[in-house]
Amino acid sequence: MELLDGRLLATQIKKELRELTAERRKLGKSVPHLAAILVGEDPASQAYVRNKVRSCEEVGFRSTLMQQPADLSQDQLLHLIKDFNENPEINGFIVQLPLPAGINATEVTMAINPLKDVDGFHPFNLGRMMLGLPAFLPATPKGILEIIRRYQLETLGKHVVVVGRSHIVGTPISIMLSRKDYPGNATVTLAHSYTRNLGDITLQADILIAATGLPESIGADMIKPGAVVIDVGINRVVDPTSPGGYRLTGDVHFPSVAPLTSFITPVPGGVGQLTVAALLQNTLEAAANQDS
Ligand code: NDP
Repeated sequence: MELLDGRLLATQIKKELRELTAERRKLGKSVPHLAAILVGEDPASQAYVRNKVRSCEEVGFRSTLMQQPADLSQDQLLHLIKDFNENPEINGFIVQLPLPAGINATEVTMAINPLKDVDGFHPFNLGRMMLGLPAFLPATPKGILEIIRRYQLETLGKHVVVVGRSHIVGTPISIMLSRKDYPGNATVTLAHSYTRNLGDITLQADILIAATGLPESIGADMIKPGAVVIDVGINRVVDPTSPGGYRLTGDVHFPSVAPLTSFITPVPGGVGQLTVAALLQNTLEAAANQDS
């Protein structure tokens, strides 16, 4: 078993981004600028956004964090998005999800200029991704592709089982890995909460991608020996033996599954690290697209 080390890959990608940013500066081009809108005080969202801002600093990008109260109206949020769309200083921006009740996330996503949609959630980008055209890819699936590419994992002809079909993880990665490309050319099964006999299906997986949000729900009895396991889940579970009284765990029961696999991502230190790195890659791409 070999660990797919997300921390190591994220460090490599950030180093590349730092060099490319320095190069842009030398050429008199703008420094990429990522902005984020955070509505409300959800602690997990605050932590994610802070991490994104810190990562911008690490690679020499500019960043802007706009924090808004939980009672912000949808109209007010749409107005802020319009300002960011029109601000030539901002290359890309995200609206951190989830949004408070009463705000329609789909309408918000649709209001973002697709050319600045570095989260890749706008239908324009998802549609282009489906057609294999250049697009901003959603950060988590793009991060998974980086893991596959940088560890040179074979996907051609493999059976990939993706468990979970959200718009931000499961559905896009299942499309990406079934494309005629590398990584891709896999036979993909997309499982969800209505899937019957999930274990029978995961047992056939050469590559298993778990994205359900159900802590440690994929056990050793569901794994084909030698499989590659990519665990997207990030779950906070109560653990009185851990400092703070909780620990982070994936959707996979790592201690029993890891010894069976050829490669596996740890949690933390796996896919999550690549998600932020992929967002930064998208931001650099947005800046390059906007060079005049
Ligand atoms: P969602 O809650 O949006 O989707 C969960 C999916 O899992 C749904 O498609 C659901 O099916 C499916 N599901 C639920 N129960 C079962 C079951 N018993 N058997 C099979 N499928 C099931 O989750 P996300 O995609 O947003 O996130 C998934 C996990 O990944 C979470 O732990 C989240 O924290 C983590 N995450 C990590 C990121 C990272 O950077 N590493 C980024 C984003 C998410 P149905 O559609 O039928 O309801």
